[in-house]
Amino acid sequence: MQLDNASVAQLREWESQLTEQYQAILAKKLNLDLTRGKPSAEQLNLSDAMDGLLQGNYIAADGTDTRNYGGLDGLPEAKQLGANIMDVDAANVLVGGNSSLTLMFQVMLTAYQFGLKDSASAWKNEGDVKFLCPVPGYDRHYTVCEQLGIKMINVPMTSTGPDMDVVESFIKADSSIKGMWCVPKYSNPTGVVYSDETVERIAKLGQIASANFRVFWDNAYSVHDLSPNAPKLASILEATRRHGTEDSVVQFASTSKITHAGSGVAFVAASAANLAGFKKFLNSCTIGPDKVNQIRHTRFLPTKDALMAHMGKHAELLNPRFDAVLTALGKAFDGTDLGAWEKPVGGYFVSFDTRKGCAKETVRLAAEAGVKLTPAGATYPYGKDPEDRNIRIAPSVPTVPEVVGAMEVFVTCVKLASVKQQLASLA
Ligand code: PMP
Repeated sequence: MQLDNASVAQLREWESQLTEQYQAILAKKLNLDLTRGKPSAEQLNLSDAMDGLLQGNYIAADGTDTRNYGGLDGLPEAKQLGANIMDVDAANVLVGGNSSLTLMFQVMLTAYQFGLKDSASAWKNEGDVKFLCPVPGYDRHYTVCEQLGIKMINVPMTSTGPDMDVVESFIKADSSIKGMWCVPKYSNPTGVVYSDETVERIAKLGQIASANFRVFWDNAYSVHDLSPNAPKLASILEATRRHGTEDSVVQFASTSKITHAGSGVAFVAASAANLAGFKKFLNSCTIGPDKVNQIRHTRFLPTKDALMAHMGKHAELLNPRFDAVLTALGKAFDGTDLGAWEKPVGGYFVSFDTRKGCAKETVRLAAEAGVKLTPAGATYPYGKDPEDRNIRIAPSVPTVPEVVGAMEVFVTCVKLASVKQQLASLA
């Protein structure tokens, strides 16, 4: 199917065939859901052995009684777990509660309100504060910025990461840009892994950006490979050390999609100066994190090998679901001008770009046919996809037959929305 050169008669014929297919789908009264980027129950089961694992032994390697207060920046063995996940030194890790998003919000709040370095470095002193947002991206990053009144600027994603020419020119031109969001491995939603060159150029931004610029490096999918030959992400920590820009990057990760999503452990990795600034803030919020949960995690995942073997079990469950999505997209759209997508080898999402102006209508048609998709626009700041093209597909929760069924509906809705729109544009 090629719409650009199709005649009106041909388009009308396709429209009537697709409408018939769509009516047949409506009659099935489906109830399927491709919206949620969360682990399935089967994936959660993989970590159930954590329950009861402590058997009354609450004492950490350094003698800390994990049941008591204290330990603002986490147990040494939990820092090592964070280091294994993020590929950094344990000395650079702070261990928090169950959510890395909370840590991102708190670090952003500290930088904005109190300053990560000192009170003079607080972004609020400088009037307008702006953040670069590679798009499509993760909606909850945008919510953090919106909550703090930080203006967001779209930067296009490419197959090697954010378009770095655009990033560098924005930063050189505008000193109110105080940071950038990055999901460097299996980016949410495109699944892209940043290339070595992209990582290198991001590490150098601290040399051209205004003072107190911070990259928020959300490495949520750092070990979430679908294949043993996973692409390797270059070390941003090592690159910033080489360029003398260590303070310009703060990294985040968690075990949310490793163990139990609602009761995991979250991590920040940063320079000594950034950690000191953040701890000053944290000290006013809490006497310390849940160290019992930290030690449960470190006993369950004591080494990098144990961690990677555990992630292999997640991959076994996720792979057939991703295959079902990618097979359906390939069969329906290879060689057509109806859409474009990346083929991720990790993470939680497949991101599909329709023809311009067709995403909302596709999502609406699918919803009417009983297939829930993430609202079109959600992957852009302020919920506004300027070209109305991007749709995020999250296949982890439904069963494989459900993913297959939902994708049949999805491709029909994409085709119908595209044909209708092309006919309208020719009218
Ligand atoms: N960052 C990204 C990129 C995510 O996709 C998610 C979960 N959807 C999170 C962070 C949330 O992490 P946490 O559970 O640690 O708060």
